[in-house]
Amino acid sequence: MADLQAIVEEIHEKLTPRLGEGKVADYIPQLAHVDPKKFGMTIVTVDGDVHKVGDCDEPFSIQSVSKVFTLTLALGKHGETTWNRVGREPSGSAFNSIVQLEHEEGKPRNPFINAGAIAVSDLVLAGHTPREAIGEIVRFVRYLADDDSIAIDPEVAKSEQATGFRNFALANFMRSFGKLDHPVEHVLGVYFHHCALAMTCTQLAKAGLFLAASGRNPLTGHTVVSRQRARRINALMLTCGHYDGSGDFAYRVGLPGKSGVGGGIMAVAPGKASVAVWSPGLNHNGNSLLGSLALEMLATRTGWSVFGQ
Ligand code: GLN
Repeated sequence: MADLQAIVEEIHEKLTPRLGEGKVADYIPQLAHVDPKKFGMTIVTVDGDVHKVGDCDEPFSIQSVSKVFTLTLALGKHGETTWNRVGREPSGSAFNSIVQLEHEEGKPRNPFINAGAIAVSDLVLAGHTPREAIGEIVRFVRYLADDDSIAIDPEVAKSEQATGFRNFALANFMRSFGKLDHPVEHVLGVYFHHCALAMTCTQLAKAGLFLAASGRNPLTGHTVVSRQRARRINALMLTCGHYDGSGDFAYRVGLPGKSGVGGGIMAVAPGKASVAVWSPGLNHNGNSLLGSLALEMLATRTGWSVFGQ
């Protein structure tokens, strides 16, 4: 196995002159004020080795990376009927796009665009109050990462709520098609809170490890999902995890990954490792610019790819 610690240090060193590139999300003050030069990266291998560099132990807003965890929960609760509410096709449009929803009568293209994640929040709410559902999501992420210090940043949740006009539009639109079971305020309460989860790269890499290890977290021995479900979640991350930049990410990195506007990306090298990277500057698709580059460098150096050796 390649010397992963040397590789992450080399990636950090090579990217240091470029730190600050990209555009930091500015729709809420908590994201706008993040230092654009932050950079962290953690690799956790399926053998349990941890390799990390930079600001890897500083919590950041994971935003849409959390959609992987809520999808996993929804699939656990509803199984394949989840797909009656949300599709499995790449959208080819922006993460917060509303146009496709009208053609598709309120059934979002996939669980990782905002509309799809809102539909998933509705599924996670089944049988719960919003507070219980949010509690369930936090407990689930803590269980995945084996770390009870993980929490939601309440200020981020509040700002998401105060500025989430487009998400309200998406949710109301779906509700008008009869595609949400719960009141819009409740569904969005769950959505805004899971987007506001604060995690470090190390916590995020640990939380994603079950996807690299056939559904079982080798650090805790917990079986989280079946092998088949882990493969399927990875397939969705590969095809839809970077919105309309998913094709480019697959081409350059070749690994399933999920990005968030906080600048985080969680990527999975099946059978090998889970990786999290954080760099707040985004590209035009809303994915971390240097984070994608760091993962491309990692894939090149290790040969990790789902498409061949
Ligand atoms: N909270 C953000 C939103 O709803 C999440 C988007 C993202 O990370 N791409 O707009």
